[in-house]
Amino acid sequence: MALWNRKKSQAQTAQADLNDEGISRLEPGLGRVKNIIAIASGKGGVGKSTVATNLAFALKETGASVGLMDADIYGPSQPGMLGAELEPPHVVGGQLQPSNRHGMSFISMGLFLGGGGPVIWRAPIAMKMIQQFIANVLWGELDYLLIDLPPGTGDVQLTLAQQAQLTGAIIVTTPQEVALGVARKGLKMFEQVNVPILGIVENMSGFICRHCGKETDIFGAGGGKTMAIEMNVPFLGAIPLDPAIMSSGEEGVPVLAKDRKSGASKAYIALVQAVEKSIDDMKASGNLLEPEQVEMADNGELHVRWPDSHQSIYTPHHLRVNCHCANCVNEDTGLRTLDPAHIPLDIKISDIKPVGRYAMAISFSDGHNTGIYTFKRLRDLCECPEHSKKGESFEV
Ligand code: ADP
Repeated sequence: MALWNRKKSQAQTAQADLNDEGISRLEPGLGRVKNIIAIASGKGGVGKSTVATNLAFALKETGASVGLMDADIYGPSQPGMLGAELEPPHVVGGQLQPSNRHGMSFISMGLFLGGGGPVIWRAPIAMKMIQQFIANVLWGELDYLLIDLPPGTGDVQLTLAQQAQLTGAIIVTTPQEVALGVARKGLKMFEQVNVPILGIVENMSGFICRHCGKETDIFGAGGGKTMAIEMNVPFLGAIPLDPAIMSSGEEGVPVLAKDRKSGASKAYIALVQAVEKSIDDMKASGNLLEPEQVEMADNGELHVRWPDSHQSIYTPHHLRVNCHCANCVNEDTGLRTLDPAHIPLDIKISDIKPVGRYAMAISFSDGHNTGIYTFKRLRDLCECPEHSKKGESFEV
């Protein structure tokens, strides 16, 4: 029984979404979004939301269909930056209809708040909102959905990494070292959850004087590039520190919509090209370790086909014994606390669920259901001679 097939499931969704006249209709969720890109930063105030808005508009200007999800639920600024009316979105058939501004669909907590003060959410409510933004918004078919994340590395970022099939993340930083330090943390978090880093954008980079045209590096220079080299990820470009960017944010009009020839607009046009190239390179490199197909064989074995066509076959017993959850392994020492002798040889897999783009959760017939197997670990657990030589799984 096939559990999931990446290519097939996309084609099936596309087909199911045509009505009798063959016209596509809006469907909730992210199933028909081609590229989902998280815009992240280590800390607030580096211009992450400004970059998200202007990059989204610049992508739209290439003819792409674009959506923007303001997941910065603690400081939603997208409605202001897009000059949107602060009214709650319409509900159609129990689903939220995204607002439309400057030719882009968008949703933001700010629309529900009517311009009130700072937002303080209890974590479970914040998480519910994010889940709604993922599953219950009529995003329909989009070429790009940009997600403006809250700063830092918290539950919202993790939930999105687990529940939205992120194509990749863009890290926004300013040139100075302090901001770079925290951006590095964000970068590490995405790497851990197998979300590819599309690259780093250095914002507020070089101030160009309107009067004399001289460029001054108010916040230092070149830090974003240094970090990109250090972390081995693409440097996507630098956006100048430009008062026109700030005023366009306040007016609710993206810089490209105001003046296509300005330095800021040119920087965003160049950024679009760098982002498109990074997505193409990432897809072509096959670096994303995500199974092509996962199948449960009639004999209860798990069959996984990887992007390089390698087929791994796992017995349920091998997987159960090598579970790496906190109930089976001492988190401090990394040593196994589970006694393999207690695992029945005829144990079965009772359920498998994907976890983001990086893992699957496997439940077993002995009631054990806390094991999350990252694709990397799963690949290392492959029982073929080539992999078992590495000795990365536990001895049974
Ligand atoms: P964040 O989302 O990281 O908290 P914002 O996007 O809200 O940051 O930007 C913070 C402030 O900096 C805003 O007033 C915005 O207009 C301004 N800003 C952002 N980028 C630039 C830039 N390149 N040049 C000038 N002002 C900018």
